[in-house]
Amino acid sequence: MLERPPLSLYIHIPWCVRKCPYCDFNSHESESPLPEAQYIDALLEDFSQEFGRLDTDQIELQSIFIGGGTPSLFGGASYKKLLQRINESLAFATDIEVTLEANPGTAEAGRFTDFREAGINRLSLGIQSFDDARLQQLGRIHNADEALKAIELAKNAGFANFNLDLMHGLPDQTAKDALNDLQIAMECNPSHVSWYQLTIEPNTVFYRRPPELPHENILEEIQISGQKLLESQDYHQYEVSAYAKPGNKSLHNQNYWSFGDYMGIGAGAHGKITLPDESKILRTRKIKQPNHYLTALNGRNGELKEILTQERPLEFLMNALRLRRGFSKKQFESRTGLPFGEIAKRVESQVENGLMQMEEVDDELLISTTATGYRFLNSVLEEFL
Ligand code: SF4
Repeated sequence: MLERPPLSLYIHIPWCVRKCPYCDFNSHESESPLPEAQYIDALLEDFSQEFGRLDTDQIELQSIFIGGGTPSLFGGASYKKLLQRINESLAFATDIEVTLEANPGTAEAGRFTDFREAGINRLSLGIQSFDDARLQQLGRIHNADEALKAIELAKNAGFANFNLDLMHGLPDQTAKDALNDLQIAMECNPSHVSWYQLTIEPNTVFYRRPPELPHENILEEIQISGQKLLESQDYHQYEVSAYAKPGNKSLHNQNYWSFGDYMGIGAGAHGKITLPDESKILRTRKIKQPNHYLTALNGRNGELKEILTQERPLEFLMNALRLRRGFSKKQFESRTGLPFGEIAKRVESQVENGLMQMEEVDDELLISTTATGYRFLNSVLEEFL
């Protein structure tokens, strides 16, 4: 039976100082000055609407992620107001994780302290590389020194729990260069590292004028040796690009990938909401253009779509199999509202092929990919199409 899963909140801030040539996020070069107060008010209206959709107040928020764009362009006072007002309607779990994405180029000494004061307890810093030449190629507004300084500022402001975003497979990058970036990152002692490969996405400058990327053999070498290096320093992979020290997996990431619910507010934000009484799972998306979002008169929904019963198994698996630990039979049933029998035969055939595994732990049936299956995740998923 369909049950209401844990609830998170995603808040999108759609502006950046400059658009990076590889970026396909809903981010726009900032107008000056930003309509900060007006946008916070719009977010609060948007939240009220999403909260109404939930149809219950008997639930608490387990995580909030303020992403972008560059959320660190806004000040701590704005987030304090936003979080306090949200908390008047919706209870926060006692161990709620509240993350804010910050860019080193927008890190100012006082700002991180204000973020902490506002109730933000985790920072995610968009470092990408510690090599100045590569940062320039990526169109970043910061250099390596500023990145290191931003990390220091975050620590001094009391953020023991912080993530560093790093990219690999950058133009002309060798395995040695990529490992060097990782090594510097780990010397900064973050609790979490998001380490992901540069991909060329449509609608980006890199798509129109592609840079020369490393050969596949080098990419593979980077992947294999980088993972070894991370593991050797106690950063354990729990999702395709996410590595955490013990006890520091991101609650927000895990809720996304285990097909949990999240309200999405802000320009272009996506959400997923389960309505057990109506046996429905909805996907929501907000108006994308910041100016249209700000001035909308009749709500800010861009799209509202139901995940149909027949679509649920694949949607669930596309998320849950990104997690190394996979999922439990019970989780599949409560989050899709379908019996495990819907996918059992195909799981069994993948087990025979050595791509998936099932084990009984404490009376729970756990299903995950094997190491080979995890490497060829898309092929595994194709079996469930
Ligand atoms: S800072 Fe981040 S969100 Fe902004 S343009 Fe660059 S990659 Fe995109």
